Amino acid sequence: LNPKAHSITEVINEVILLFESEANFKGVSIIKNCKATHDVVLCEANQMKQVFINLLKNAFEAMPTGGTIQFDCINLNKNEVLIVIKDNGIGIPSEVLKKIGTPFFTTKENGTGLGLMITERIIEQHKGSVKISSNHPRGTCVEITLPVYSD
Ligand code: ADP
Ligand code: MG
Repeated sequence: LNPKAHSITEVINEVILLFESEANFKGVSIIKNCKATHDVVLCEANQMKQVFINLLKNAFEAMPTGGTIQFDCINLNKNEVLIVIKDNGIGIPSEVLKKIGTPFFTTKENGTGLGLMITERIIEQHKGSVKISSNHPRGTCVEITLPVYSD
């Protein structure tokens, strides 16, 4: 691993760009509200992108008829950044919520059940944490905290 200092806001912006045309096509609006002023994280940019790609993919798949994805980025304090990704899709029933992140657990016909496991592993490797909650059937909320890098 060769981690470098990256602005997490920039990483998020780059990933959102990748989904822009799919979002337009599917009627999904991605609303970004990144207020964190201390947002530099020591990371492998491609791995961190993978985290947000996996989460955006899940959000899209939860909103087959369109909807809203909200990205918030705030500092809990100057040493910790909190990224919240909220969708208003189908949500996750509590019995399913217990099992997600388990390798190969999927509720999708063509799912791999690996996305969240990989996401959790990458965040753990960066000394952060992931929390997933759902107000079934009113959408899903993923909260990621990461330590801020300062030199
Ligand atoms: P996959 O997407 O291949 O099924 P994941 O690990 O990404 O694998 O997700 C596991 C399961 O968690 C999904 O099958 C789905 O049931 C649930 N899930 C994850 N994210 C969301 C979301 N944003 N909305 C609803 N369900 C979700
Ligand atoms: Mg997935």
